Amino acid sequence: LSLSDTVEAHRICVCVRKRPLNSKEVTKNDIDVVSIPGNGTLLLHEPKQKVDLTKYLDNQVFHYDYSFDESSTNDLVYRFTAKPLVQTIFDGGMATCFAYGQTGSGKTHTMGGDFSGKSQNSAKGIYAMAAQDVFALLNQRRYSSLDLCPYVTFFEIYNSKVFDLLNKKAKLRVLEDEKQQVQVVGLQEMYVSCAEDVIKMIEMGSACRTSGQTSANANSSRSHAVLQVILRRRNQVHGKFSLVDLAGNERGIDVRSSDRQTLVETAEINRSLLALKECIRSLGMDSHHIPFRMSKLTQVLRDSFIGDNSRTCMIAMVSPGMSSCDSTVNTLRYADRYCEN
Ligand code: ADP
Ligand code: MG
Repeated sequence: LSLSDTVEAHRICVCVRKRPLNSKEVTKNDIDVVSIPGNGTLLLHEPKQKVDLTKYLDNQVFHYDYSFDESSTNDLVYRFTAKPLVQTIFDGGMATCFAYGQTGSGKTHTMGGDFSGKSQNSAKGIYAMAAQDVFALLNQRRYSSLDLCPYVTFFEIYNSKVFDLLNKKAKLRVLEDEKQQVQVVGLQEMYVSCAEDVIKMIEMGSACRTSGQTSANANSSRSHAVLQVILRRRNQVHGKFSLVDLAGNERGIDVRSSDRQTLVETAEINRSLLALKECIRSLGMDSHHIPFRMSKLTQVLRDSFIGDNSRTCMIAMVSPGMSSCDSTVNTLRYADRYCEN
């Protein structure tokens, strides 16, 4: 199975990543109900009950382009998912990589990495590895003559509103012009001269994302975070890589006990994730109608869904515990549908 035969040949790549049981789950005697028997396959052992109340495990098989088990590193996941997309933006295309899954399943660990020092698995994320590869290619002779200039934006979308993570969470407006070009007005686009510059932006933006979480703005798990690396040539966009840490897709929000804000948030997240599914699906079908106006998320990512040279990768993260089973089924089904195209 070679990378060039698979990921690069397809416009959509869908993978699943299982994280290890964490210490909290181990303490609660939570049981691991997810196994990865081979590359691309995932088995879910869902606890169920018969009418006579006897319990059994319902084994379900899911298939993806790749499946990564709990021993896989960020580095390995990166090599099979986002890394092949770096070339796309040098070829003048749009590349997009999504991290999907419930809160706590490993989206931020995979995308942003773990620099806290609290985790034993201190690891670089896809953001930083992609930045390094972008600069590695920029420094190659075959691209230096193109005069490509790299820029970075970093923003979050919460309740249909866009906030600039590189400018103190300034609230921004999204406009669409007569040519259907979507613009985020006033979004800071920072010039970066090396991978370390990008990493500094990521750290700054991530700190901004989690700081000052009040009822008036987003808990980071309830917002989508979008990091974009933009290659400009003579001030025109040549290629764009969007790396998206999506809002948690958790199930089981209790409608009776949740406050209004939580309900509004949840409805909004569901709507945007549904819109995303529809847009990615139309990308896979070469459809001419792309319903990107269905949500703010898909609207600002419109470029990702158009053009012959767009490539998308979805990494669905799952928690292994039985206590997360409902959300895990939800995640696996959401990701599975793309493969049916
Ligand atoms: P999310 O962003 O989906 O809410 P996080 O990335 O914050 O989830 O992960 C939740 C916790 O689990 C973090 O403490 C993180 O370090 C840990 N974690 C997630 N994925 C892994 C993994 N593959 N290996 C080890 N620890 C992980
Ligand atoms: Mg997160």
